[in-house]
Amino acid sequence: MGTTKTFRFRNYDIHPDPAGETTYAAECVSGDEADCGAQSGDEDEPTKVDTWIAKHVRDTGHQRFRRTVADYATAEPGAWQ
Ligand SMILES: [Zn+2]
Repeated sequence: MGTTKTFRFRNYDIHPDPAGETTYAAECVSGDEADCGAQSGDEDEPTKVDTWIAKHVRDTGHQRFRRTVADYATAEPGAWQ
């Protein structure tokens, strides 16, 4: 005997939240056996992350990075589907 579950989904209006600050970051993923793991930390400008990368390349010779951008969004409940 199986059970039946019914899920109802609602529409949401999702928008960028201007009150939330967008942040940029990079992590060094260079390395043979394990990633270097050095992190830029969150920056408010992508150019600051570029500068951190340039310095890290200069200091270590590492040349591969994982970059992330994070922002905020709001979701307003809308109609039920
Ligand atoms: Zn590194």
